[in-house]
Amino acid sequence: MDGPVLRAQGLVKEFRGFRAVDGVDLDVADGSVHALVGPNGAGKTTLFNLLTGFLKPSAGRIRLHERDLTGRRPEHVARLGVARSFQITSLFAQLTPREHLQLALAGGTGVTWRFWRSDRSLERFTERAAQLLEEVGLTAQADVPAGTLSYGRKRALELALALALDPKVLLLDEPTAGMGVEDIDRTVDLVHRVRRGRTVVMVEHNMSVVSRLADRVTVLQSGRVLAEGPYEEIRDDPRVVAAYLGD
Ligand code: ADP
Repeated sequence: MDGPVLRAQGLVKEFRGFRAVDGVDLDVADGSVHALVGPNGAGKTTLFNLLTGFLKPSAGRIRLHERDLTGRRPEHVARLGVARSFQITSLFAQLTPREHLQLALAGGTGVTWRFWRSDRSLERFTERAAQLLEEVGLTAQADVPAGTLSYGRKRALELALALALDPKVLLLDEPTAGMGVEDIDRTVDLVHRVRRGRTVVMVEHNMSVVSRLADRVTVLQSGRVLAEGPYEEIRDDPRVVAAYLGD
């Protein structure tokens, strides 16, 4: 691990005078898994949306290495190397995981969308698509319609779609939300696998997942950073315990 790859300074987001994010500083170390936690309404989702360009900050700056990301649009932020996992709603029920990945890899390369099924140029993405399917454990389901996949497998496909952008920083929004124990364990293994050579920022409610994955944890409360540090320190911090008891 090195210096910060992603850095937010004095980040503020106001909604009609209400500060959902109120002066947040965040340093995400290169190669780390960094968890954002905190009680409901703490500002985690808003911060996540600021980091990925889905919301524009009212004040403050966001940088990826030396590059200023502040106020850039989500597509631009993604192209510069900060990608978020897709939402299930963006999957096409009739397309297979392999087709999803080929199309994602071809994005912006001029493949003719109307005729993409017969477009031979997609073949150059076959190998990379197969690698990504393997990486997220979807090889066996590569050619079934995405609509027939289980919830956990759909989320693995979303992850593969984010990885197709070859991000420097991967943002995961509650990767285990709505999952049973088995899918949670698979997802923890998966994040362990995909973190190699990458930096991961995740919003996660499940503290057992945070303890197993995160190198560092930032605890938010009322839009501010309440505490920051390794999980073991955070867990025993009386301010953090009090914040959760008040949830
Ligand atoms: P968390 O993800 O930690 O639960 P959020 O970022 O969703 O917290 O919300 C933080 C606070 O900002 C909450 O009080 C929420 O009601 C408020 N908030 C979030 N988005 C909006 C919005 N678009 N307009 C007004 N208030 C918002």
